[in-house]
Amino acid sequence: MMEKKMYDLVIIGSGPAGMGAAIYAVRAGIETAVVDRSPVSGGQVLTTYEVDNYLGLPGLSGGELSERFREHADKLGVTFVTADVQKIENHTDKKIVFTDEGSLEARAVILATGASHSMLGVPGEMKLSGLGVSYCATCDGAFFRKRTVAVVGGGDVAAEDAIFLAGICQKVYLIHRRDTLRAADTLQKKLFSLENVEIIWNSEVKEICGEEIVEGIEVRNNQSGEQSSLAVNGVFIAVGVVPNTDAFQGLVQMDEKGYIVADETCMTSEKGIFAAGDIRRKPMRQIITAVADGANAVHSVQNFFVSQCSTL
Ligand code: NAP
Repeated sequence: MMEKKMYDLVIIGSGPAGMGAAIYAVRAGIETAVVDRSPVSGGQVLTTYEVDNYLGLPGLSGGELSERFREHADKLGVTFVTADVQKIENHTDKKIVFTDEGSLEARAVILATGASHSMLGVPGEMKLSGLGVSYCATCDGAFFRKRTVAVVGGGDVAAEDAIFLAGICQKVYLIHRRDTLRAADTLQKKLFSLENVEIIWNSEVKEICGEEIVEGIEVRNNQSGEQSSLAVNGVFIAVGVVPNTDAFQGLVQMDEKGYIVADETCMTSEKGIFAAGDIRRKPMRQIITAVADGANAVHSVQNFFVSQCSTL
């Protein structure tokens, strides 16, 4: 169990938003602890094969970029706590963060737990998860060397996954429900140049088939209504993300999708509670915007502390 201690600031999550906030907070002399359920910092970025749009550090893998963030934070003396946050109590004078390892107290809290992959919700998906159905190409791609796989989705993650898998697998189908991708242009150009990638447009996966491992998928063209079977060994699902806000239900205002309502100041509906990164309702979820949120959130934390002093 952790020692009960009062911090100025507890940051929950050690992805780019949490790490960005930690660095700004510690440099501002704010006594800070970062709590993450994983001892490996990085969050979603850890599953990214190559990050080519983070300023000044092109071409690093998600793991390498996360390590750089962690090294930077360690160098500044950030305190990391490995624990799973279960609930936060909001009192006028403090916030109590309850975890599976005990509780911490803080004058302010930054919620930066990011988002996780969505499920497709078709028959066979749950049953064959880990048996050919995967949500992380960089984690599981190597199991499909020289085999045939399908990627489902049309965003950045689907395009990145298909590009990564094309370097490992014999054949990659990209199945997308519309006739244009929403992935970045550079990714699309790369994707379209790959000979072993076949894009199946206007199509939806209706079922993932197989008794003990994935053997194929049933695909329906939503324009013609035609249904076809594709033999594949693996299915990589990349159909978006959902915010990791379960532990914060009822604590702060959220939108209908569960994202925390906060503008660029990262201030939530509750005083002293801030939201940074992919967990926040915002138009663009990128590593660089998450890091920027971290800095903005700490600026708001400082203003909050000043306002607390002036009301004493
Ligand atoms: P996304 O951009 O929301 O794309 C999700 C894709 O899945 C869309 O093409 C969507 O189709 C499709 N989709 C959603 N529900 C579906 C369903 N039930 N059946 C079939 N297809 C479905 O999500 P993402 O690619 O996971 O990316 C998440 C965020 O992370 C994005 O903001 C992205 O830009 C960001 N990201 C950034 C980086 C980076 O900074 N380098 C890297 C990766 C991701 P429609 O297009 O028809 O809606």
